[in-house]
Amino acid sequence: MIPLLPATPQSLLQAASELQAGRLVAFPTETVYGLGAKATDALALAKVFEAKRRPFFDPLIIHIADRESMAPLVAPSAAAGARVKLLMDRFWPGPLTLVLPKSDAVPDLATSGLPTVALRMPSHPVALALIRAAGFPIAAPSANPFGRLSPTCAEHVRSAFAEGDGISLILDGGPCEVGVESTILSLAGVTPMLLREGGIPRSEIEALIGPVEIGAASAAASASGPRPLAPGQLEGHYAPRTRLKLLTHTETLPLAGSRLGYLGFRGGPREPHAAVEILSPDGDLRAAAANLFACLHRLDRAGLDLIYAEPVPETGLGVAIMDRLRKAATGSGIE
Ligand code: AMP
Ligand code: MG
Repeated sequence: MIPLLPATPQSLLQAASELQAGRLVAFPTETVYGLGAKATDALALAKVFEAKRRPFFDPLIIHIADRESMAPLVAPSAAAGARVKLLMDRFWPGPLTLVLPKSDAVPDLATSGLPTVALRMPSHPVALALIRAAGFPIAAPSANPFGRLSPTCAEHVRSAFAEGDGISLILDGGPCEVGVESTILSLAGVTPMLLREGGIPRSEIEALIGPVEIGAASAAASASGPRPLAPGQLEGHYAPRTRLKLLTHTETLPLAGSRLGYLGFRGGPREPHAAVEILSPDGDLRAAAANLFACLHRLDRAGLDLIYAEPVPETGLGVAIMDRLRKAATGSGIE
């Protein structure tokens, strides 16, 4: 098993030295657990893609601990933009990733050959302490095999990888508070473009900087670069191994003789199910987001034939939750 250490000053130093040596460390952020590597070390980045079996067309998010670390990573004028400053003032540190024109310091592997780089300042104290201890920005996608359920606690990471996957250690910082990935906003074009729904609702961004365009898979194309298929934009992602069906109403469609699971928003199913998980008995969308992946992991381990998932209201964080559930359904093999 991969070593799992509670985050302490000592384990942070150990993790930092692993990163400095070009090796991989899994660590907590407020969104989900990340699989980190030194952002400017192409060889270390290659190990991330290998461990996750992540296609090289899918760029990584680079995590920084202070604003000064941004300048060397972006094109000279990019950090000075008025919208960039407004967004950083309001949402950093936190679950908002900004896509900006990149500098030469960022390896092409990190950006899948795109002329832009995705940057985020996480708010989790362990993530910030690790970046500072390492002394450089950390590139980190979610610490799970590509396309599968995201990890929101250290145990999810440990059970998803084997020792041979090249991960030196997992820092345990408890369960993730937000529980869904960051919102990704591109400021590389004339109009800001939302590339992924996530921990900061679009409405909060629009209240600050005005309307944003919604990026479709094809809209992620850059005129000058290759086209990434971002996971936020793939139709199937975040998938359990068990088939998952997103209900359009709260009635279930019993499948004779099968073991059925149920993921409810605030209440349980009408008929008995082999396993039931409730996202938030109070109907709180923040709590529902924080519980989403842990509930799905438990249902996925319950030996079920099918998981029914109830829709949640599509407001605030509910938009990101529904995005994950739709993609989980598609990724599990259900259209
Ligand atoms: P994750 O797998 O949660 O680390 O998210 C990585 C995602 O960030 C990618 O799949 C893209 O959606 C997005 N991303 C990273 N870099 C870029 C970029 N340069 N341009 C557009 N999207 C990016
Ligand atoms: Mg991911």
